Amino acid sequence: APGLYLVATPIGNLRDITLRALDILSAADLVLAEDTRVTGKLLAAYGLSKPMARYDEHAGGRTAPRALALLEQGGRVALASDAGTPLVSDPGFPLVREAIARGLPVFAAPGPSAALAALTVSGLPAERFLFAGFLSPKSAARRRELAELAGVRATLILFEGGSRLKASLTDMAEVLGPRPAAVARELTKLHETLVRGPLDALAADPALDHPLGEVVIVIAPGREEAATADDADAALAEALTRLSP
Ligand code: SAM
Repeated sequence: APGLYLVATPIGNLRDITLRALDILSAADLVLAEDTRVTGKLLAAYGLSKPMARYDEHAGGRTAPRALALLEQGGRVALASDAGTPLVSDPGFPLVREAIARGLPVFAAPGPSAALAALTVSGLPAERFLFAGFLSPKSAARRRELAELAGVRATLILFEGGSRLKASLTDMAEVLGPRPAAVARELTKLHETLVRGPLDALAADPALDHPLGEVVIVIAPGREEAATADDADAALAEALTRLSP
């Protein structure tokens, strides 16, 4: 069907592309790419060659009118970012919002996302989580953001660039305390590693001093969420005592 397709692409391993994503890319009239070289390589790896235009925070304003005009004529436009799911800490939201405002069809072609991949292997609860994207690169602002997240009763998922990992983990340990956490690095790639432990131990771990590549940090919920069944029983018993005459 005609419309705007949000196509998830591999986060490292080129084989992590869905059959449907390939169908959609090969049928697209225009492929919008965060970086046309990166998406061009992916297309080439699967024997595809398509008209492409750059769509990122800089070029998006120029490319969007062309994409929207094409959609209004009944065309098919695919949006892909360099890695993972578009819009998730990646370009695309203004285009999707405008397409919806104009009543144009928008479809997801779901697939990899570093956030969910890291959550599933972290060993931390996955039924309730908060994805907070990138924190501020500046320590004071980052600590304020962490303080806001401290009360959230859910597993936290954060993106970070490798070079800032140590400074971020140090702030996390200080603001959130020694919660269980995991650092997932280079997921699906040759040097994939997962380091699990309390935040303070991760912040002090020499193995994380010079991390190569990209990381996701997953942090266990604060204490209330981690309360055991015994704690719940004790709280219930106490409440009942207060109620009884
Ligand atoms: N939209 C993408 C997604 O859904 O996965 C995320 C894009 S964001 C600009 C890039 C960040 O994602 C990196 O800084 C890192 O935190 C994380 N990331 C992407 N690929 C990764 C990988 N293979 N292993 C670990 N983290 C990754």
